[in-house]
Amino acid sequence: MFTIIVLGSGGAIPQPGRYPSSIAVRVNGEILLFDTGEGVQRRVLGFGLGIAGLRRVFITHLHGDHVLGLFPFLQTMSMQKRTAPLEVYGPPGLSDLIAGVLRGAAFRLTFPILTIEIYTEGLVFESHRYRLYAKWLKHGVPTLGYKVEERVVTGRFKPEEARRLGVPEGPLWKQLKEGKSVRLPDGRVVRPEQVTEPPPKPLSIAYLVDTAVDEGNLDFVRGVDVLIHDTTFTSDLADRAAAEGHGTARGVAEFAQRAGVRLLVMTHLSSRYKDPLPHLQEAMSVGVNTVYAYDGMVIHLTREGISFTELKKWRRSRQRQEATS
Ligand SMILES: [Zn+2]
Repeated sequence: MFTIIVLGSGGAIPQPGRYPSSIAVRVNGEILLFDTGEGVQRRVLGFGLGIAGLRRVFITHLHGDHVLGLFPFLQTMSMQKRTAPLEVYGPPGLSDLIAGVLRGAAFRLTFPILTIEIYTEGLVFESHRYRLYAKWLKHGVPTLGYKVEERVVTGRFKPEEARRLGVPEGPLWKQLKEGKSVRLPDGRVVRPEQVTEPPPKPLSIAYLVDTAVDEGNLDFVRGVDVLIHDTTFTSDLADRAAAEGHGTARGVAEFAQRAGVRLLVMTHLSSRYKDPLPHLQEAMSVGVNTVYAYDGMVIHLTREGISFTELKKWRRSRQRQEATS
């Protein structure tokens, strides 16, 4: 299951209610950060996201409104005496940028930072929780789009089948549910596929910001459940959008429809618009299931459906979960 928390939904010029680009994605229990626009740490702290467990940050490109919020964030982590390593992924040039700021600014990190520059498209990282893929986008500077796909090891567990095969309820059931074979006291080996249904199609999300609409991205995002896409302008500014490497609402909505996504989340609103109503009208005329992101938007994605929670409610339920675990 995924939870997406929008931290910044604005374009390059911040607006009172919209910070520059950043989203947090919780996938099977791990929080990932995509882009770190100015003010990202204020959003993280203000929205009550726990960051002690943050291990990985993914930067799309080195335009200031996507990366400059990283450094104050690193400073705060150091002041909080973080010791766990932090991995930061992004395009070539990221290492020089981070090293340069750390050399020039007067603060010392209390934890190791590992910078991983991505040169080739495809699988970038995988764990037992998810797989992460990257793809080059159409923008003025080298820019990466990302896709996160959950790892689904097994399908639904069939307790009646486990009992029939004589597997005692308890730790062995847990191992089978985790996709591991088990040996019974009488020496027989039971494989997970004997007691589970075939794994379902993994849930996935894609983050394509900043970019113009590009047919070359279609295969990358085909069939994803949630597509978060740069939608800076409306279609009357299509020429400017193409020249600057940004999306228009109509173009993005048509692209999302061709890609067969379940939900389109438009973001990166230009400061020339006071609200995204014209974008929503354009996208709705295409007939795709669409929302325009706002700072604090919380989206839950499960196999059963996609739902939205008010931030305060989501935070309270997280605090209750943490208190009981
Ligand atoms: Zn940009």
